[in-house]
Amino acid sequence: MMSAKILIVEDEPAIQELLAFNVRQAGFQALCAADADGAWQQIRNNVPDLILLDWMLPNTSGVIFAKQLRIDAHTKDVPIIMLTARGEESDKVLGLESGADDYITKPFSPRELMARIRAVLRRNAPQMPNETVASGALELSPSTHRVTAKGTAIELGPTEFRLLHFFMTHVERVYSRRQLLDQVWGTQVFVEERTVDVHIRRLRAALEPVEMDNLIQTVRGSGYRFSTS
Ligand code: CA
Repeated sequence: MMSAKILIVEDEPAIQELLAFNVRQAGFQALCAADADGAWQQIRNNVPDLILLDWMLPNTSGVIFAKQLRIDAHTKDVPIIMLTARGEESDKVLGLESGADDYITKPFSPRELMARIRAVLRRNAPQMPNETVASGALELSPSTHRVTAKGTAIELGPTEFRLLHFFMTHVERVYSRRQLLDQVWGTQVFVEERTVDVHIRRLRAALEPVEMDNLIQTVRGSGYRFSTS
């Protein structure tokens, strides 16, 4: 497994260096930026697994930047740990309301910082719930990785499996290709939107023998919808 990429956004060189040192010592990859613009450049190249974000940044403050990160499709699920010199309760609330997942007050011990990073990464590890989902005669079990339709086993590749799971847990709603990429492929990858069409085609082909390919509907100009009606 690749080690997690951690983007450090901190304008004070000495602190940035200290953070990067500790992050690398702990076996993670460290990417650094001194402000929001620099951070966006890093993110365009490489979506990080976690962002360590200083509250006091030049130009765009950490709080505003965190809000922007929460809106952007590539970063909305990337956990943020806010770094700040302030210790007041109201600031902590503001930081968390802006979209941060955790909060650490300077000065902090490297040990505490690493414990927070590990906890946040663990909490955000993508997990597929284990409950079997059913839609009409179609049944999907994440724990056994099996799909059956009217009692017949359906063979699916891993991506089609995840795609079908997403659809079955989000019925009757239209999703754009970009939304499906974010939800099914994850925000860490840049994949072309037409990749979605390829997997939709495969999923429909797998459902065709049991006459369930029409569950996946194309919504012209918008995307796709899983519909049982
Ligand atoms: Ca600062």
